[in-house]
Amino acid sequence: ANKKLVAGNWKMHGLSADLPEIAAIAAAASSYGNVDVALCLPATLIERAVRAVPGFAIGGQDVHSAEKGAHTGCTSAQMLRDAGAALTIVGHSERREAQHESDAEVKAKAEAGLAAGLGVILCIGESLDVRESGRAVEVVDAQLAASLPAETRDNLAVAYEPIWAIGTGKVPSVGDIGEMHAALRERLVAAYGEAGRGVRILYGGSVKASNAAEIFAVPDVDGALVGGASLKAADFLPIVAAAA
Ligand code: 13P
Repeated sequence: ANKKLVAGNWKMHGLSADLPEIAAIAAAASSYGNVDVALCLPATLIERAVRAVPGFAIGGQDVHSAEKGAHTGCTSAQMLRDAGAALTIVGHSERREAQHESDAEVKAKAEAGLAAGLGVILCIGESLDVRESGRAVEVVDAQLAASLPAETRDNLAVAYEPIWAIGTGKVPSVGDIGEMHAALRERLVAAYGEAGRGVRILYGGSVKASNAAEIFAVPDVDGALVGGASLKAADFLPIVAAAA
């Protein structure tokens, strides 16, 4: 089994006043030697968080596919590295929807992140319509196949986040999570051979202390990408503990 990764996605939350909360999470997380813990923060907080919690994995939430250039408002992988980030999310459904990011663009972003030495959490997941049509595995597998970087690295992870489970309190059954993760594992092995077994597959969408343990017990669930419940140490640390 892969070492579990529990990553928080702070989305568009977090100001200077939240640095003590980040410090509290980092301090407690360091006591779980068998779990990797990370917080993906708004870009404006990354450098200060890195200074406040040296050695703890701070990440970004998106990265541009180009090294540099005329891309107003965007952040390159090298900029995230320069700010001290260890990883980044790419392809979150909120960006695929609101910023119209395609699979090809997400793939290019993942490749740019890995090339710069960042860990990459590549997100995929189906809409409620697709889930109800019975085609979720087929659609998400195709999304992964089209978004995967050409070559893998140790620090590539995939996050399966059903869109209808994000921020809703709804979670797929453990059977449905297991079915999806098994299919994604097959896809990773088809793409990368044995190295595909080492790519961690996270589950995301309404993970909280009360459901984390049963989700982590599902085969091929190698951790979680946590939104709302990652903002406060009191909510996030029990999830980390469930992975330990
Ligand atoms: P919630 O945990 O708030 O449902 O968000 C999940 C998510 O989108 C993490 O990237």
